[in-house]
Amino acid sequence: MRVRLIYSPEVVEKPVLAEIIAKTGLLINILEAKVNAQKGELVVSIPSTGKRLEEILAMFREAGVRVQKVTKVLQIDYDRCTSCGACISPCPTRALRFGPDWTLEFDEEKCVACRTCVNACPVKAITLL
Ligand code: SF4
Ligand code: SF4
Repeated sequence: MRVRLIYSPEVVEKPVLAEIIAKTGLLINILEAKVNAQKGELVVSIPSTGKRLEEILAMFREAGVRVQKVTKVLQIDYDRCTSCGACISPCPTRALRFGPDWTLEFDEEKCVACRTCVNACPVKAITLL
């Protein structure tokens, strides 16, 4: 499950993520990070589901971190797509690539719903659901 973690100035310098990884032993993967002295925002992939996932999210909340589940995914309109590639290189997580037949392929697990590809597409073939 992809989750956006929002750190306020009060907690941005605390090693919340490292402590939760150490405590749970989970391999939480960072997909995107924007951090400065004032605030931080990470998109992470947490390899858990159901009750265990909710327990992990509660640990972040108890540590003062706001949690948003990233559930939006993309839709590609293949009737519009001209396989120009303009959306591929700006994608920060390499969620888009060409397949062997130059069809645009999308890896939902890697997508952090940042909209960069939506804005990059010259024919408006990509929408966020
Ligand atoms: S929204 Fe587009 S650019 Fe952003 S991560 Fe997803 S596929 Fe990549
Ligand atoms: S930028 Fe648009 S037209 Fe170009 S490959 Fe991506 S989805 Fe297709």
